Amino acid sequence: MDKLESDFSKELKIIPWWSYLLGSIAFLCMQFVFHVAILHSEKVPPPPAVRSLLGVVTGLALAVWFMLLGYVNRDAGRRGMNRALWTFLVIIIPNGIGYIIYFIMRKPMQVPCPHCGASAEPGFTYCTKCGKALKPSCASCGAQMRPGDAFCPSCGKAAAPSA
Ligand SMILES: [Zn+2]
Ligand SMILES: [Zn+2]
Repeated sequence: MDKLESDFSKELKIIPWWSYLLGSIAFLCMQFVFHVAILHSEKVPPPPAVRSLLGVVTGLALAVWFMLLGYVNRDAGRRGMNRALWTFLVIIIPNGIGYIIYFIMRKPMQVPCPHCGASAEPGFTYCTKCGKALKPSCASCGAQMRPGDAFCPSCGKAAAPSA
């Protein structure tokens, strides 16, 4: 459970400041709409309790929408997807359906190559930029090892110091 929570707060950290700013402005605008503007536009405005509820619900929905917008804008970059295109798509596809499409379609997170820093997809064995192995492999049997493993998980031989 701890891991899940820390993953979630790590994800929250990538949301950019402008996303929080726009979300807060949208929330305040909704309070204005339901507490001030509605009194002037409606002959019989809804009772205050209903207006407060509507203001909070629509305000929160808009705030979440803007936070998701910032999240998609950053997250697409980490996955080697077109940031501008996906930001545009989630804005123009109505009712949040753009976000649903994004979360279904998004690619796995890219990992940096330990040798040259180029981003690579997690399934790749070799870097497409410099051609070196992305993960260390055993010098005697060739089995793939995790970075930092001292012994081969397959044949048990000690790992060669990484080049
Ligand atoms: Zn590389
Ligand atoms: Zn081995």
